[in-house]
Amino acid sequence: MPGVWERVEERSGRRPHAISHGRPYHIPHKGATIATYWLLQWVGVVLLTAAVVVVFAGWREAVYGAVSIVIGGTVWAGAIMILQSAFAAAPDCLGGRREIGKLRDFFPVGSGALGATAFCSLPMWICLSLIGYALVETNAQIIGLIGTGFAAMIAMLTFWTISVRRFLSQERREERHTRLATRLLAGTALGAMACAACAAVSALVVGDGEMFLGIMALCAPWLVGAAIALIGCRLYLRRLWVVRAPWYETHCAECGYDLSGDLGVAQCSECGTGWRSGAEWGEVGGAQPEA
Ligand SMILES: [Zn+2]
Repeated sequence: MPGVWERVEERSGRRPHAISHGRPYHIPHKGATIATYWLLQWVGVVLLTAAVVVVFAGWREAVYGAVSIVIGGTVWAGAIMILQSAFAAAPDCLGGRREIGKLRDFFPVGSGALGATAFCSLPMWICLSLIGYALVETNAQIIGLIGTGFAAMIAMLTFWTISVRRFLSQERREERHTRLATRLLAGTALGAMACAACAAVSALVVGDGEMFLGIMALCAPWLVGAAIALIGCRLYLRRLWVVRAPWYETHCAECGYDLSGDLGVAQCSECGTGWRSGAEWGEVGGAQPEA
């Protein structure tokens, strides 16, 4: 009886690289890999914070404010790490869908929906500010405008929570989360372009060139932070997708039961969910990790 790896090799003609053979379905040296990545990410974020201070305030201020820059950069890097941990919480867990805790399952939905809402609402707030600048005269109108903005954000958050949940609830967690990270990255780029377009229109209408830079400086930390968080998630989840692919060849994705004793069954003998082996998955084009 050939083992899992031999079967994977036989079917796909290749052995997925970078698989921990001591602990199958796990990324080798996971702890050290994540720690190294987070250290590099922290250094990058602190340097980025320093660069922003140098551009806006000059070298002298950057040198005098070095401690504040390190503290500010550390807080920013910490927020990014928390977002990354939340987004990867469910796919990081090995097992069937029923074996994942409700809270762990909801973390990626919550963080994904928050991210999508953030890059949809940034251009909206720029437009609302422009409307406020041009039309609003009384306090009641200001309150009305801000209220409209928050109501729209709640509507966006509800819409994105439902959409992201539906997208992630499909089979093969690692694959779904990797694809979602890719889409959110594209969404962040689109959000940045929309912000730049809205800021340019605002600056033209008001006739103040400085205004464009001011608006972009307000939007940048959110957009750049989201992009850094998503690039890290994308790199990690893509590796997870590769090392986990063989698990689905022999386990029920619903309850996690090991079906390697008889892969020819039509249903999982533990929970009754319809079973199709990983090889069939490969044939319908669902199993190959994307580049
Ligand atoms: Zn099952």
